[in-house]
Order: sequence, then C-alpha cells, then structure tokens
Amino acid sequence: MREKKGRSKRATKHRDEQQLDGGVPGQPPHSAATHSRAHDHGANDERESLVNGRECGPANQIATKVEEVASIHAFMSDLDCKILDPAIVGEECVRSPAALYKQHVRHWLDRDPVLAKAQVRDSGHGLHVLLMLDEPIICAGDDARHWDKIARGLRNVLPGDPSLNGIVAMTRPVGARNTKVDPPRKVRVLRKGEPITRAEILDLNQRLANAPARLWMRLFFGGERASPCPLCGATTHTLGVVGNWQVECYECGRVDAAAMVYLFYSPTFLDKREDSRG
Ligand SMILES: [Zn+2]
Repeated sequence: MREKKGRSKRATKHRDEQQLDGGVPGQPPHSAATHSRAHDHGANDERESLVNGRECGPANQIATKVEEVASIHAFMSDLDCKILDPAIVGEECVRSPAALYKQHVRHWLDRDPVLAKAQVRDSGHGLHVLLMLDEPIICAGDDARHWDKIARGLRNVLPGDPSLNGIVAMTRPVGARNTKVDPPRKVRVLRKGEPITRAEILDLNQRLANAPARLWMRLFFGGERASPCPLCGATTHTLGVVGNWQVECYECGRVDAAAMVYLFYSPTFLDKREDSRG
C-alpha cells in the first residue's frame, strides 16, 4: 500500500548547518541565516510565547491558557525532524533542520503567497514556521477560543507535530540554546519572513479548510497533478486533484487529501499515534 522509494538518500556524514551561513541560494541576502531579533538570548531551553506580552523564559513559567490570551502575535507549525520519514525527505533532513529547510520546506513555502512570508527558525531539532502578524489580533469574549481552532488547523498546513498546541504554542527565542539535542544548538533564523495580515491568515485558513487537496498538491508537488504518483510511487501513474477534498491515481484510487501530509511522517511515528488512540 504505502510503498516508498529510497529517493533523496545521501551519504553525507557531516552536518550541513553551516551551508546556509553565506545565504540561501536563490533567495535575497536578507533571507539568509541572520539573527533578526534585537535581543539575543543565551539561556538554556528558553521558550518564547506568541501571545500577550511575548514573554521569554522557561516553558513552565511563561505557559498561558487559551482563556488568558488577550492578544495573538503569530501562528506556528513545528516540523520536528525526528517524526519525518527519511525514505521521503532523505536521511540528511531527519538529522539537520537546515537541510530540511533547504531541500524541502523553503520550496513548499515559496509556492503559497501567504506561507511565502513565514519566518523559519531552526529550533535545534526541527523547524518552527512562524506566521508573524503585522499587528496583534486582540481577543475578547470567545475570540481566543475561535482563533485557537484556526491555529490548530494552520499547524497542519505542513507536516508538523500534530500534538502542538494552538495559539498558546511556544517557539524558542533566537539565540537561545537548545540542550535537548546533543551537542546543544543555538536557535537561529533561516528565513526572515515578513509581517502577515489578519486577512491573509483567514485566507490561508479558508483555503486549507475548503480545498485542502488543491493547497497541499500545490505546496508539496508544485501543481494540481504530479507524476510519478507521490503516494504509491508508480511511475506510470499521475496523482491529480479530484474536487476539493481528494486526490486520485489509477493505482491508489481516490484518497483523502490528508494522505499527502501523512506521506511525510515516519511509519514509526504514525504507528505510535495509532497505539496511543486505543
Ligand atoms: Zn498512486
């Protein structure tokens, strides 16, 4: 069923994080790996809240509940290298967030007018894709709960951690050390991004909710048809959009659009989630 080809495997043994330091090929210099935030944190495992005062500090000290959110500054998706399938993204990309960005994620982002404005941070063990708002969304009454639902949808626009929180999800501040990886790594900006409006967030959310097949085909495979079929690998078959919710190939038949996202997760990760449901 879920045949995977061992494509994009590379025998590179050394980490390639340094490759981005001189700039990302094909992108303007301002998209290079520079620290854009004014402050530079040195603390270990510090987190940065994306709501209220955007506090930085230990996770347990700055964690906020949805009902305590008065303003939202960004939406995020967390692409953890470990949960991705090396047979799909390549061995290098499950070890190196920078390689994952360079080889896959930047192309996905570039194919969408809203996602193209995302900021991307190398968190140490993955990529934080941040949709930074041009001005905060102010919440009153049930607003925070409403936006939390939108955030829980947007985190799945890319094959991110499906367990991530909604609006109260935290990133790591640029410059902070992530000691959960060995050796510890500093959080750094791989893509500077630009401010996104509330209307753009709503537009992306609408396209994700109403026509995910079209959105994901375009992001991951560059158009509404892809050959060979990315799901079954059959070189003689094309995968194409059928309506808003499904994709179809002669071999796969009609399948839910979500199959395009699940494709990127490692079988081990998917099995574990299956187990934890029972
Ligand atoms: Zn197929």
